[in-house]
Amino acid sequence: MKNIIITVDGYSSCGKSTLARQLAKELNYVFIDSGAMYRAITLYFLRNHINWTHTASVTKALKNIELEFMPNQYTGVSDMFLNGENVEAVIRDMLVSENVSEVSSIKEVREFAVAQQQKMGEEKRIVMDGRDIGTTVFPKAELKIFMTANNKVRVERRYKEMFEKNPAITLEEVKKNLELRDYIDTNREISPLRKADDAIVLDNTNLTQEQQLKTALKWAKEKMK
Ligand code: C5P
Repeated sequence: MKNIIITVDGYSSCGKSTLARQLAKELNYVFIDSGAMYRAITLYFLRNHINWTHTASVTKALKNIELEFMPNQYTGVSDMFLNGENVEAVIRDMLVSENVSEVSSIKEVREFAVAQQQKMGEEKRIVMDGRDIGTTVFPKAELKIFMTANNKVRVERRYKEMFEKNPAITLEEVKKNLELRDYIDTNREISPLRKADDAIVLDNTNLTQEQQLKTALKWAKEKMK
């Protein structure tokens, strides 16, 4: 069996992380949530009042950021650590979600994250999910999946997830945040979200998690032959 790189890109809340995580588990590969890296950088900028419209401040701040994924023995997947602190929960907060797309459209931020992501793929055997993984980070990946789902379904999924942590959140807030992030991610100048020409589309609007995993596993095994 050949070692491969699998990329999973798509809009917010399409279930990319769920699929990528399950695929990695089945194949005994490493799952990497690239969005967590952009979220951790955003958290650092917010906490340290970094003016991210100012290039010199961004460059200086990035020098003080160390990102690391460390396995969590309870969940079986890796948590995001920012300068030694486990920030896995706090990076999912609305404040980070509201600012992450703006931060991740900054050239210096993308260069910083992409270089680390490419390093993680040197030995292959990874499943990485994000927005530009199949187009920019690993343009030569053996299997590229582009996920989509109906808007309403995506909003409901994210709302359910956020509501568990914050019952005060409204469906409208979640909807606005998803739409805004998708808009910024699709329209930014550097590495905008788009389907790579050689990516396979997986629309999971009407698929169960088991069905989508089965489909993606079949594709992966074909590429590994
Ligand atoms: O995947 P997740 O929704 O956690 O990602 C948060 C944000 O990080 C996205 O809305 C996007 O702005 C940014 N991102 C990115 N490129 C990636 C992954 C995430 O720009 N590869």
